[in-house]
Amino acid sequence: MRDTQLYSQILGIERPWKVTDVKVSLPADEVEVFVEHGGSKLSCPKCGKTCPGYDKRTRRWRHLDTCQLKTLLVADVPRVQCAEHGLVNVSVPWAEPGSGFTAMFEALVIDWLQAASISAVADRIKLSWNAVDGIMQRAVKRGLSRREALSPTRINVDDSRCASICPTPRLLNWCCSIAKQDFLICRRHHPGLIRRAALLVQL
Ligand SMILES: [Zn+2]
Repeated sequence: MRDTQLYSQILGIERPWKVTDVKVSLPADEVEVFVEHGGSKLSCPKCGKTCPGYDKRTRRWRHLDTCQLKTLLVADVPRVQCAEHGLVNVSVPWAEPGSGFTAMFEALVIDWLQAASISAVADRIKLSWNAVDGIMQRAVKRGLSRREALSPTRINVDDSRCASICPTPRLLNWCCSIAKQDFLICRRHHPGLIRRAALLVQL
C-alpha cells in the first residue's frame, strides 16, 4: 500500500478530496499530509448552490499523531463566488470552519478535558492554553446548538468534587450542557452561578 493510500484510510479522506503526497521530517518529528480537492463542481457551504471557483488558500490542520509524529493535514482549499453569500471557503469534511485542528483531534482534546485541567491538557499535547480553550469553546457552542431549551429541575452543590468537575467556569457550563437537567456547582468558586441557577429553577 502506498503512503498516500495509507493516509487516505487513516484520515478517512474521500472524493472529491484525495491525499496527493506525504512528507516526513524526522528532525522535526513531523509528517505533513497533502490533500487536494479533485472535483470540478464546487458549492457554497452556506446555501449549497453550485458556484464558480474563485481561488485557493493553503490551510493547515493539526491531526492526531501518527507513529509518534506530529501530523499536519495541508490543503489548498477552494473559495467560491456565491451570488448570495459572496466569497466563501468551501467546507472541508475533516474540520469545522475556522478551526486549525481536525475534528478527530478536537474530540481527543475534549475527552482529555473531562479528566484534566486546560493547563494539563495543553502541556500534554504541546499546545497553548488559548488553543485548548478555543477547542473547548467550540465544543460548548456545538453542545448548546444541539440541546433543547434548558429547563433545570434541581441544583447539585458539590464543593468536594470541584477540582475534578469545574476547574473553570466555562468547563462548568459545558458540564451543565451535557447533564441537561443538573447544575453541578461549586459554592467556593462559583457563588454567582448558584444565584443564576436558583433563578432558573425558581427556588
Ligand atoms: Zn451561498
